[in-house]
Amino acid sequence: MPELPEVQTTATSLQPLLNQTVEKVSVFQPKLRWAVPDDLVSLIDYQLVDIERRAKYLILTFKRKGGAAQKKLLIHLGMSGSLQQHSVGFDKRKHDHVILTFNDGKKLTQLHYHDPRRFGMLLWLDDYEDKLITHLGVEPLSEDFSADYLYHHIHNRKKPIERPIKSVIMAQEIVVGVGNIYATESLFLSKIHPLTPAHLIRHEQLTTLVAHIRQVLQTSIEKGGSTLKDFTVADGQTGYFQQTLLVYGHKGGDCPSCGTTIENVKINQRASTFCPTCQPLITQKKP
Ligand SMILES: [Zn+2]
Repeated sequence: MPELPEVQTTATSLQPLLNQTVEKVSVFQPKLRWAVPDDLVSLIDYQLVDIERRAKYLILTFKRKGGAAQKKLLIHLGMSGSLQQHSVGFDKRKHDHVILTFNDGKKLTQLHYHDPRRFGMLLWLDDYEDKLITHLGVEPLSEDFSADYLYHHIHNRKKPIERPIKSVIMAQEIVVGVGNIYATESLFLSKIHPLTPAHLIRHEQLTTLVAHIRQVLQTSIEKGGSTLKDFTVADGQTGYFQQTLLVYGHKGGDCPSCGTTIENVKINQRASTFCPTCQPLITQKKP
């Protein structure tokens, strides 16, 4: 599944289309997770003026050439989606559901939305902002995400959060884009057991955890930049940086740090691998 790093890589890969004008809109299959809007064709003659990533969403802003009218397109790649650029005349492949053709004044470029499993979406942001975007937590690579922020979230309430730290850092309303891989790896690097009740984690451990979450995501974004086509093959698996994963997917293997056998526990139905030696479970506050 495309995760935050792949979506960030996609956002970066779209930069050459900035300031280009939409020449043609072709919708071959509107039935994605939600239907592609009927009036997507109204993007014709609009210029792409901004590309943002928010969580795992791409937000493309278009402006009417020479006018003030603006349209914002919200794209999510779902389980298996990708956006690929081809020179004009490239044949539509199976599962290319939408093609936007851009004109830079000299040449045309086709942007293909490809999605075998069709869990993705292309929607007008205005129609779905409240439903999909407004409630999202902070971006993990922004300055808003800090140990203070996490500590505040865990403790500044009637009853501190006692559920496992792993489920806290994966909660989209707290911080977005920390998928299972990144949560598992960063907890290992921080020597924190994934089941540790969140309120028992000290502020300095949260500092370490935040730093590792950023590091793991950043490393993955850097790798994603050079292997984009691997995930566009997309059968629902992101496999391309698994060789660099320390514990994720390594149940029964040896801990790369101490050699202890890596164990697995399910948290919120998700596999959570950890090293029982490097990540001892704390269940009580230290006196
Ligand atoms: Zn270990």
